[in-house]
Formats: sequence, C-alpha cells, structure tokens
Amino acid sequence: AGKEISYNKFRNLLAADSIQTVIIQQDKIYGQLIGADTTAQKTVAVMGTAKNDSSKVTSSNTAKPAFIPKHFYTPWRLKISQTEKEYQAWVKREFNVVPLDDPNLIADLQKHGVDYRGKLDSHWFSNLFFNWVIPFGLLFLVWGFLFRRMGGGRGVLNIGKSKAKIFEADQSQRVTFEDVAGIEEAVEEVKELVRFLKAPDQFTRLGAKLPKGLLLVGPPGTGKTLLARVAGEADVPFYSLSGSDFVEMFVGVGAARVRDLFAEAKAHAPCIIFIDELDAVGKSRSQTVVMGGYDERENTLNQLLTEMDGFDAGVGVVIIGATNRPEVLDVALLRPGRFDRQILVDRPDLNGRIQIFEVHTRTLPLSEDVDMKRLASMTPGFAGAEIANVCNEAALLASRKGRTEIVMEDFQDAIERVIAGLEKKNKLINPHEREVVAFHESGHAIVGYFTPGADPVQKVSIIPRGIGALGYTLQTPLEDRYLMSRNELLGKIKGLLGGRAAEAVVFVLISTGASNDLERVTQIARDMITVYGMSKYIPNISLAEHTNTNFLGLRPPAAPHSEKLERLIDDEVLEIIQTCYEADKKLLAGKRELLDAMAQRLLEKEKIEQAEIKQILGPRPIIKTGQTTVNHKRLKHKKSSKEADTCKTTTG
Ligand code: ADP
Ligand code: MG
Ligand code: ZN
Repeated sequence: AGKEISYNKFRNLLAADSIQTVIIQQDKIYGQLIGADTTAQKTVAVMGTAKNDSSKVTSSNTAKPAFIPKHFYTPWRLKISQTEKEYQAWVKREFNVVPLDDPNLIADLQKHGVDYRGKLDSHWFSNLFFNWVIPFGLLFLVWGFLFRRMGGGRGVLNIGKSKAKIFEADQSQRVTFEDVAGIEEAVEEVKELVRFLKAPDQFTRLGAKLPKGLLLVGPPGTGKTLLARVAGEADVPFYSLSGSDFVEMFVGVGAARVRDLFAEAKAHAPCIIFIDELDAVGKSRSQTVVMGGYDERENTLNQLLTEMDGFDAGVGVVIIGATNRPEVLDVALLRPGRFDRQILVDRPDLNGRIQIFEVHTRTLPLSEDVDMKRLASMTPGFAGAEIANVCNEAALLASRKGRTEIVMEDFQDAIERVIAGLEKKNKLINPHEREVVAFHESGHAIVGYFTPGADPVQKVSIIPRGIGALGYTLQTPLEDRYLMSRNELLGKIKGLLGGRAAEAVVFVLISTGASNDLERVTQIARDMITVYGMSKYIPNISLAEHTNTNFLGLRPPAAPHSEKLERLIDDEVLEIIQTCYEADKKLLAGKRELLDAMAQRLLEKEKIEQAEIKQILGPRPIIKTGQTTVNHKRLKHKKSSKEADTCKTTTG
C-alpha cells in the first residue's frame, strides 16, 4: 500500500526519525511514517474537516491528514472507492520502497528505534500456476489436438470405431436399377440379393442359403460402385466404406474397426456392408510377408476372415466387395462361405453401350440427328464411366457453341476428345513438319483402307492433340470383336507401320514421329509369337509371363525357355515387322497419287471425315478377313488397349 518513494528519501526519512514501522520483503519494503492516523476510516466523514488543511505530508508529526487532493471529492461512485483507498493509505502514512543492497539498513533501523520485521514472499499461488498448471494445460492441449487429427475429428476413444457411413434410405439422389445399363448379369445378381433381403423366407424355405458375400470384379469405371449403391434399394441399412478406411497408422486399429463394423451390422440386420476397393485390405497375406515382415494389413484381413465366418448366413448380413484387381486378393477371401459369388462387371458390348448412352442422355436436350447406335459403334472398349464422360463433354461443347440442343457433331467431338485428348489448334508447327505429319497420317489411312484385316478409317486429322500427338488417324471396328485372326493382327501391324512407310516413300528420310506406332507394333508382333502361338517356327507354345499368379508375392519369371528360343522370338518379331513394312512401302509407292492427293487435302483442311476419305480413295475393295467362329476365350491383347485404333504421331 501507499506510495512508492525513492530509496534516498527513505534513508532521509529514517535519519529524521520519521519512520514508525517497516516490513521487509525480498523485493519490497513497506513502511509507515510516525503519526499515522490509524483511526481514520470513513472518507466522507474526514473529508469535510480535511478540506481546508493544506499542509504538506512531509511534515511528519501531524496527526491529521495534511492535504487531500481535489479529486477525492469526485461524485462518481467508482472513483470514490478508488480514491478512498488512496486516501486511507495517505492518512495512514504508508509508503513502499524498492530495497537496495544496503548492509547497514538493519543496524540503522535498530539505531533509530524503528519497529521492523521480515515477511515471507507469498508466491505459492503463482508458483503453482506457472510451474504446474500452465505446462500441463499446454501438454493436454497439444495431445488433444494431435489425437483429434489422427482420429479424423472423432477423439481418442473412437479410433477403433468403424468408419462406415450409413446411406440413408430416403436419400434424394439415390440410384436405382434404372441408372445401371449394359451389365445385365451383374444387375440380376444384385436384384436377387435385394429380393432376399426383403423376403428371406422365400429362399430359406427350401433350405437354400444365400451367399454371404458378393464380389464385384471388373475394370475401372464399369459401374461396380454404382451397382453396389443400387443395392441400397433393398431398404435396409447400407454400410458403405472403402478398404482403405481400415488402414490406420496404429497397430490393431484395422482389426478393431472390422470387429466394430460387424458388431454394428449384426445389431442392425438385415443389412448390407459394402467394402469398395477391397484390395486395400484383402491383399494376399503371403505377399506382404515377403515384402516386409509383419504387416498390420494382415491382422486386419485375418479379422475380416474371422468375422465373415462368424455369422450365420440366415442373419441377413450381406457383404458386397468391389475390386478391379482380383488377382492380388487373398485366396482365403474367395473361398465359398466368404465372397463366394464373384460377379464379373465387364466393359459393355454394343447393346450395353447403346443403353448406357440412353441412360446418360435421358436428361439432356438432344437433337433429332443423334443416333445412339452410331455413337455406341464409335466407342468400342469404352467403360460406363467413359460414356458418361462423353455425354457430359458433348453437353459442354454444345453449350459452348451456344446451341439449344446437343447435335451429333458434339458427340463426335466429345468422343475424339476422350480418345485422343484436347485439340490444340494454335500450336505452332513449322510448314515442313506439318507436311511430314500430313503424309504420315495419310499413310496410315491409305494402308488401313486397302489392307485386309485393318479397321475402317473414320477420320484423319493433323490438328495436334493431347500430350505430344501431332496428328491422328481414327480407325474403329464395325463390331465388337473378341477374337482376332492372324491376318487381322498382321493388318493392324501394317496399318500402324503405314505412317513411317509413307515418310520413307515420300521424303526418304524418316522422322521420330512414329515412336508410338513402333512401340505398339512391336508389342503386337511379340504377343503373336509368345502369347497366341502364331509363330511360323515355334507355333502353339505359350512363352508369356504369368501375370495372374503370385507365388510369395514375386512375379514369376516368364516360362523358362532357352536362349535359342529367345533368339528365334526376336528374329521372328523382326521378320514380321520387316515384311509388313516392305508391303506397306510397296502399296504406298503404287498409290503415290492417292497419297499426294490426301496429304494435300489434309494440309488444306486439317481434318477429313469418312465420306471424304471414300471420295478421295475410291471404293474400298471388299476384303475377306479370316474370321474364326470359335468363341471361348477373349484375347488378352484387346483387354489392354482401347479397341478404337488411333495412331498418334508423337513428337520427340
Ligand atoms: P467403378 O466400377 O470403377 O466403381 P463406378 O461405379 O464408380 O465405376 O462408375 C462411375 C460412373 O460411371 C458412374 O457413376 C456412372 O455414372 C457411370 N457408369 C459406369 N457404369 C455404368 C453403367 N453400367 N450404366 C450406367 N452408368 C454407368
Ligand atoms: Mg469404384
Ligand atoms: Zn503414326
């Protein structure tokens, strides 16, 4: 309390015997002057008498307050309580002073008869606060923050809970069977499942058990996720999650989540559990052992296997899994009693594509000339997702051009865009290079036109597109093909080599533009010999690498064969390509005027459509392709590449 005074003044006061008591603390000395009026209590009472007194405080012996500052009279209550404090301190003659290092102080206090004593600093509260409460508080804050981040905002205790989301039955943008087209068999299976969940006794009456698990297998974008969501039509709780939701950085969490998921599902039976991208958890266990010892994923998978065994098929919990990599799944998952039914969701055929086009154009304003059948035949090998994309691109293109309806041309442009990438109209190409590209593409087109086994040419363009393509020739088959004869493969090779052959015929010097063509040619030629056994010298033997089996996670070496065989393969690949190339050069040299005319037209117009190609090249000779009728295995070669055969002239 009181006013802080200088040490110097304090010493002077002491020397003048004006100090009555002091309390000495480590960092402060509190004191009281002699003559303090300890009875002065009520400010208001004293104020009146003190008003006229104007003597100074420093004259120490006066019992009465010597001076009252003007603001003590202030009428505001708040101020009064404050000034009252000041006044009290002043009346009591209190002061304080910051101690200095003064060894004689105690002796002097004693000498002048001051009543002095020491006092302990009362810092226990602030000590407690700063040393304990704040650090621990901070620690808890940081912990809480970290756990919240790791637990996906669900706190520490929920980390072992499953992340499955329930799809509400009355969801507004719910998908129905109407939205899925072109994959009838798969739809049938799922429909049966829905029927079972709605009326289980119909099936169980005869003692049949319904599969516990369906596995949807197929290439990306064919509608697996879509199909699983349609299963929500069964009007039962639908737990949807992705395989990666089980995977967490903590050991044991995945397994805990699986347990939690199944416990919840059983409580809500009948219900559907949908695990998308199942391969994230279901990877073959032997594979993970080789790759790096114990794996958390293995734990999760074991738990999943146990849980799937642990409930009765009659309970009404059905698990739907989806994956596009069935070959990496653990065999234990696929055995009967778990994912016992595997549904292939394949790329749609012609009819399927027509239906998918219809589904995705239902809400679009179409002009009269849009022909679904033609669209479908232009898009062989397209998956549902790509068709959806084409429809959307077409709508975008039409609105960009300010049309009120979407016309066929928009669809054609959209398809090209999806196959070959965006047109780059203002990419600058020097005139000579443009000429090379024009002859290159004309070469492809003419060879394709006159060669047995090649697909008809739909369009030739020298507008740069996509990544690194300077021009392209679009050839699409008339129908979906699942088998190809040797002649057709040779036709493909010839078509692909046509570009380079044209360059050689016209310019003699060849360019780098054929790199993409050559890559594909080499692959086809090699596959003919090693995969399809179409070799002249070593026929009917498969020398392919096994891609579907994974023994201990290692890719097995190609079927073992001698160096001699290897050389034979290489020699024959070379021979096939060489023969085709020579044939191309001969053909093009013989049709030099057509080649010139077509290249000229391309340089003028940049792109030519089918009708005009016919007009330039004359009628296409009727070509009998050696089509076979055996129908049991799909060609691998076709699976890997889009059937629409584009030739891209590549840069670099
Ligand atoms: P994935 O098989 O990779 O899970 P999705 O089911 O996610 O493929 O399909 C993506 C999108 O493609 C769907 O939302 C839908 O618009 C479209 N789509 C795919 N297949 C079909 C189909 N058979 N019928 C209708 N639309 C389809
Ligand atoms: Mg999917
Ligand atoms: Zn080419």
